[in-house]
Amino acid sequence: MSDQQPETKAIRNQTERTDQREHSTPLFLTSSFVFDSAEHARALFAREVDGNVYSRYSNPNIDEFVTKMCDMEEAEAGVATASGMSSIFSTLAGLLEQGDHVLACRSLFGSSHQILSGILPKWGIDFSYGSIDDTESWESLIQDNTRVLFLETPSNPGLDLIDLEWAGKLADAHNLILIVDNCFATPYLQQPMKYGADLVLHSATKFIDGQGRGLGGIAVGKERYIDEISFFCRHSGPALSPFNAWMFSKSLETLPMRMDRHCDNALALAEELQEHVNVEWVKYPYLPSHPQYELAKKQMKKGGGVVSFNIKGGYEAAKNFLDKLNTISLSANLGDSRSIATHPASTTHSKLTEEERLAVNITPGMVRIAVGLEAVEDIIADVNQALA
Ligand code: PLP
Repeated sequence: MSDQQPETKAIRNQTERTDQREHSTPLFLTSSFVFDSAEHARALFAREVDGNVYSRYSNPNIDEFVTKMCDMEEAEAGVATASGMSSIFSTLAGLLEQGDHVLACRSLFGSSHQILSGILPKWGIDFSYGSIDDTESWESLIQDNTRVLFLETPSNPGLDLIDLEWAGKLADAHNLILIVDNCFATPYLQQPMKYGADLVLHSATKFIDGQGRGLGGIAVGKERYIDEISFFCRHSGPALSPFNAWMFSKSLETLPMRMDRHCDNALALAEELQEHVNVEWVKYPYLPSHPQYELAKKQMKKGGGVVSFNIKGGYEAAKNFLDKLNTISLSANLGDSRSIATHPASTTHSKLTEEERLAVNITPGMVRIAVGLEAVEDIIADVNQALA
């Protein structure tokens, strides 16, 4: 198994068959597990033997999902959680203590910004933001108490990139734990561990599920950090449901095929939008006009499934566009088989101030399309009629 490609492992790596000889992993919907004897219970709790005790600690479906994600990210260990945000929060809360400092990229998902600016400061954990336009200044933002370098690449919704090789070297030189939110790329397009990341986080709610059915998250990476995060999760309880783990594990079997189609459709839409008279700018990592196109080609296999663009005429024009869409759904999710359009300034990033939004290029006319798996002609036709 160890020499096989990650795609093969994501399909073949399954929980051991039960005596029913099932081909597809069954769902283990059970809160707890039985002990063979009182002595067996004692030994399990003392961790003298391996085995399942209680689904807040482990469950075969959750273990299978974690194993596959570790295979795909080439990580030593992992811990699954109930949502992407709980993986981010549990990672930071599990690793940091009072007096620590986090250096993060400014282009972050809205709720990650809320954790750094509204929640961790209550426990005396401070943060600074580095701008992607000025990475030379990041070194000067590192303090004696900085422990974590936290990045999202590509970022939501601005699709800015961070050079992972550069970040790996910076973290290494200053003894920082490099944490990368890899939600937009998925392990199929980008593997941050290869560039020196210590931990990789995902919202499994997005492309990993791929059909907009359930919430989940995961942190994978170096065992010594995962052990600390697991301790936090075991006792604070943001456990992933076995049902969602079972679903995500099945979805991983088709991740490469789905991502290829998401990316091809997104590139075709980005190229079309770029030519449209009512569109001011288009951002997509694999468009040659993206300021970090060369970097995208270096660290991502393809450009991802999300396109952001600015409609001429600001918020009114963006609202008008969204209300005219017929096929593409108006929703706040991404990574679904169905294309979704979102207006970040008034929804996912509405809790940021206008100034904070503009600092990461979230303009009033910006629309994000998470391009789905429909026939690309139908996606383009819907966008064109709504832009007309
Ligand atoms: N990280 C990124 C980059 C996201 O886009 C999101 C959600 O959109 C999250 C984390 C949070 O994930 P969840 O909604 O599963 O908590």
